[in-house]
Amino acid sequence: MDCIFCKIINGEVRSNIVYEDDYVVAFNDLNPMAPTHILIVPKKHIATILDISDADADIIGKINLAAKKIAEKFKFEDFRLVANCGKDAGQSVFHIHYHFLAGRRFAWPPG
Ligand code: AMP
Repeated sequence: MDCIFCKIINGEVRSNIVYEDDYVVAFNDLNPMAPTHILIVPKKHIATILDISDADADIIGKINLAAKKIAEKFKFEDFRLVANCGKDAGQSVFHIHYHFLAGRRFAWPPG
């Protein structure tokens, strides 16, 4: 499968991995939108949030736990976790991922 995140997960493409467990890997975004911009990605290939099934509930929980561990590791009490679903929402890589953004103030509502 020609998926850039699968290639990062299996080591075919290099990335700066900051966290990994049995379910997820997290690495620095190539094009950071904040001083800290980490992508939290499940090891299982799931194209979009609309493709998640009940059997994936553990994986989705592990993503949130990974965000907590990353926040603790880098000592952030304030951060944003964002997942884009579909092209119009800004999704460009069709392997689900959650953007962990920190190190500056963020506007709400988002643009
Ligand atoms: P999205 O637009 O929500 O699908 O987010 C995809 C993100 O993946 C973007 O922020 C890209 O900068 C990032 N990205 C794409 N390729 C790589 C890569 N090889 N290593 C790290 N981040 C990447």
